[in-house]
Amino acid sequence: MSTESASAVFRDTFAAEPEGVWSAPGRVNLIGEHTDYNGGLCLPIGLPQRTFAAVRRRDDGMLRMVSAQGGDVVEVALDDVGPGRPEGWAAYVAGVPWALRRAGHEVSGLDVAVDGRVPLGAGLSSSAALECAVAAAASDLFGLGLLADAAGRTALAAACVDAENTVAQAPTGGMDQSAAMLAEPGHALLLDCRDHHTEQVPFDLAEAGLALLVVDTRAEHALVDGQYAERRDSCEQAARELGVPTLREVAVGDLDDALGRLSSDLLRRRTRHVVTEIDRVVHAREALRHDDFERLGALFLESHASMRDDFEISVDELDTVVETAVAAGALGARMTGGGFGGSAIALVRADAVDATTERVEAAFADKGFRAPQAFAVTASGAAARDH
Ligand code: ADP
Ligand code: MG
Repeated sequence: MSTESASAVFRDTFAAEPEGVWSAPGRVNLIGEHTDYNGGLCLPIGLPQRTFAAVRRRDDGMLRMVSAQGGDVVEVALDDVGPGRPEGWAAYVAGVPWALRRAGHEVSGLDVAVDGRVPLGAGLSSSAALECAVAAAASDLFGLGLLADAAGRTALAAACVDAENTVAQAPTGGMDQSAAMLAEPGHALLLDCRDHHTEQVPFDLAEAGLALLVVDTRAEHALVDGQYAERRDSCEQAARELGVPTLREVAVGDLDDALGRLSSDLLRRRTRHVVTEIDRVVHAREALRHDDFERLGALFLESHASMRDDFEISVDELDTVVETAVAAGALGARMTGGGFGGSAIALVRADAVDATTERVEAAFADKGFRAPQAFAVTASGAAARDH
């Protein structure tokens, strides 16, 4: 158990017992990519893979942090945390009490030992899992009571977004932290990023004899830095040209008209992805309500084509997963997460998980790609105290 492992790392490092262990899940987005910062819709599930944080309060305002995945102990005074400080992985931890304090909560120093079981940098949001595990601990240890209801959890998620955007200086949109804070077992989380409304949508594939296969491509691509910011800037520019606050305000029925008013082909393609992708989330929710998994699979494929051709965030490895899974009989497949590597998902028959995995591994070997990591997942629960 990683609860034990985080506690053991804590004891070894700080020569004391943690006051408790908290964990939060990674997430995989079923559909609705690059829609969060456009005020749109997305539909993530919590993963069974979680990040664990063993934590103890300190009364001297210091933060000491260690990770089973992170190397040396990092030490910083809470007063010295800020934009870009500390650097590296510890920003995702230290940023959380910093953001909570900025939001008006009374917090102090912490010793934190982390053990993460969400693959790092695989597009499965190990960063939000880490932040949200620490935020859950802070809420309990400082008596903030924010884990008790959806409103409190939403406030914790917002602090985690602030930590990631401001301290770790990664411009993420908010889906990851909401999923880690609000996901329920057996459900996908419909997230409306315009008004922060959420809805639990039943997502039980086992009942239908199906499974969701996640394939971490382990692809490493150069020149990825800046691509996310570039897509975000393009979307903001398109919204400005259309005179709307975000692309969410463009109804799918008005898309052709909107495209005609944009200044470049690039902005037209970026906009077409966002507007049609938001519409696909609406249809995916309907499909889930009716257990129409054929339709869900078809939407996965449309989404992937849109990301590949219009938003231009796919890579050969991701396309290979999708094509191979479909050739092996998957109902649908798509890349998921920010793009340029990371993971893809495939909706497959439960009895085809192994065969599909083997086909994908063989296709990767043929093309000389690094071996991928594939695993079936079920929708799992949000940040919580474990011990
Ligand atoms: P993703 O969130 O998709 O996994 P990110 O680049 O957003 O990818 O976040 C990965 C980063 O988060 C890592 O490079 C590291 O800095 C930090 N991180 C996540 N989990 C851990 C962990 N268990 N220990 C140390 N750092 C972690
Ligand atoms: Mg991340």
